[in-house]
Amino acid sequence: MRNLKLQIGVIVTALAVVASAQSPRPVRKTSAVSTSPAATTSAFAAAATTNVTLRNDLTWIFGGKQQRGWYLYDLLIGKTLDTKQEPITTNFAASVASWQKRRGIRADGVLDQDALMAMVSQWQGNRLKNRAAATPDQLLTAPPSDFYDPSRAEELRQVERSTYAAYKEMLAAAIDDLKLARTSSYLKIISSYRSREYQEDLRRKSPNAGSAGLAVNNSPHFTGRALDLYVGGDPVDTKDANRAIQVNTPAYRWLVQNAERFGFRPYFYEPWHWEYVK
Ligand SMILES: [Zn+2]
Repeated sequence: MRNLKLQIGVIVTALAVVASAQSPRPVRKTSAVSTSPAATTSAFAAAATTNVTLRNDLTWIFGGKQQRGWYLYDLLIGKTLDTKQEPITTNFAASVASWQKRRGIRADGVLDQDALMAMVSQWQGNRLKNRAAATPDQLLTAPPSDFYDPSRAEELRQVERSTYAAYKEMLAAAIDDLKLARTSSYLKIISSYRSREYQEDLRRKSPNAGSAGLAVNNSPHFTGRALDLYVGGDPVDTKDANRAIQVNTPAYRWLVQNAERFGFRPYFYEPWHWEYVK
C-alpha cells in the first residue's frame, strides 16, 4: 500500500512537471508537433552535443594538410547558415539541418566531415571565377598609405581598378563602423596584384607553403582582384593559433558581416584574403 501511494505520488508529480512544462507554450492552431520549438530542441539536442565535440576535434583534410575542428570558421558558418546562435546550441544544429536539406545532404544537424566539406565547396564556389591575369591597363598603382607596409615597392602596389574603388568604399564604411583611427593598420592592404614571376619567386623562397598556401598555377592575385588585408595577428600566417586571433578581431568580424555588400568574398582558409567578385 505504501509502495502504491509512492507510485501514485511519482505519477502525479510527473504529470505536474509535464503540465507545467507545457503550459508556457504558445497555443498553436495546428497540432504539428514537429514544428514546435520544444520538439526541435529535443530532436537536435543530440546533434548539438556531437557538434560541441566536432567543433574542436573533427579531423579533415584541406590543401593536403590535416585540419582539426571547425571552430576557426564559426563566423563564416554562422553567416552561411544565416544564424547568430552559438555553435553549441540546439538552434544552431537546427540551422545546420535546414542548410543540409537545402544542399540535398543528410539533414541531421551534425556538422560532420560530409557537411563541412559541402560547406567548404559552397564557399570555394563563391570565389572569383575568372582568373585571367590583369593587363597593365586594368591596374592602377595605389598610394603607399593604403598599405600595411608603406615602404612597399611601387610595382607591388598595383590593384585592379574596380577592385580598388570598391575597397576604398568598403574601408570608409569599416572606419566609420569600427571607429578605426587613421593610423590603424587594420584593413590596410598587405598584398594585392602579384605577377606570375613574382609569385614563382615567392614559392622558391618558401617551398613548403603547400597548396593551401601559395597557389602555383593560377593565383587569384594575378587578376589584381584579390586583396590580402590586415585583420590582426601575424599578417599572413595560416597556423591555427594565429588564425584563431585573426577570426576574433573586430576587423575580421566586420568583413564577414559586411564585405559581400561591397562585392568582396572570403577565402575561408586565409582570414586576410578577400576577392572582388563583381
Ligand atoms: Zn591572398
